[in-house]
Amino acid sequence: MKITKYGISEAEIRRAKANAGCDVCPRCGENKSDVDYVIESMESGKDTPRMFNKGILHLGYYTKYKGVFRTTIYHVDQYKCLSCDTEWESEPYEPYD
Ligand SMILES: [Zn+2]
Repeated sequence: MKITKYGISEAEIRRAKANAGCDVCPRCGENKSDVDYVIESMESGKDTPRMFNKGILHLGYYTKYKGVFRTTIYHVDQYKCLSCDTEWESEPYEPYD
């Protein structure tokens, strides 16, 4: 027997829930990522000087620890809107199953 496809994991579901709404800028309503703008610019064939300072950038995540005797690790995803310079983050979520 061999597995031909892995389903979505519990950790991925937790991450998606914690990140709900994070793909829209809470200040200016930007809903395209920085990559979307780069692709758009490349497809248009025009050289857009602002192509690298628009859209939502996923900065990465930082780790949070909760609990004293039994420590649980949480991740918090960080985002930045390059269009208006606002930063925000997801709810903490357990990244491992
Ligand atoms: Zn914004």
